[in-house]
Amino acid sequence: MAYLAPASSGQDYDYLFKVILIGDAGVGKSSLISQFCNEKFMDTVASTVGVDFYIKEFTINGKNVKIKIWDTAGSEKYMSVATAYYRKADGVIMVFDVTNEKTFVNIQSRWMDAIMSEDSGCPEAIKILVGNKSDLNAEVNVKDCKRFAELHGMSFVEASARHNLYVAEVFRALAEQMCELKMQRQPPSYYTDPLPSIIPTLPSPHGNEQSSKDSNCSC
Ligand code: GDP
Ligand code: MG
Repeated sequence: MAYLAPASSGQDYDYLFKVILIGDAGVGKSSLISQFCNEKFMDTVASTVGVDFYIKEFTINGKNVKIKIWDTAGSEKYMSVATAYYRKADGVIMVFDVTNEKTFVNIQSRWMDAIMSEDSGCPEAIKILVGNKSDLNAEVNVKDCKRFAELHGMSFVEASARHNLYVAEVFRALAEQMCELKMQRQPPSYYTDPLPSIIPTLPSPHGNEQSSKDSNCSC
């Protein structure tokens, strides 16, 4: 009988992470993704129905890292985003519009609650706070943003999708933090493998006595 080799998984990455963007409609989530993935800024971003996906790759500490970016595709206008959107997200980019205080207020209540929900959120995910539209005059107080971010253990970045300011940095910082967490949870095998048996036997405090394993002792 012919031997069938197991099919190759075809996996061309070390880590694959799911990243979601949340925040009120109009804050610039799709624009940030479009700028980062396609290097384009569009004044009107068409919304499709459902969820849009984008893939981006990085090399971080010699590892091939892929992030799959999910965009709400406009659904946040009509309802809270579906549970499937949050499920198993490794990273969350929380976006508000620096010219619109209400969008920051909603991050602190509505969007944070949705993520932190044990049933339908992704409380374990790494979060990063982004104040978008930094090319315009800000209405939101930067100190408040920093304080809120610190309280929740996340970084805060002011970005502009329009002028491509700090957009790549947001995604890269998140990818690095997700990698770090993954390494902590699943350290490479050289951290967990038993030590090789090359450690010399230490001399016994009683002189040249052999270890109990080598002696004729039957105990
Ligand atoms: P979404 O609903 O959160 O996905 O927001 P969109 O990406 O559709 O953007 C909403 C509107 O804000 C669009 O008219 C964009 O052109 C505009 N916009 C997005 N990012 C920026 C930015 O950084 N600066 C400025 N001035 N406008 C932006
Ligand atoms: Mg959108």
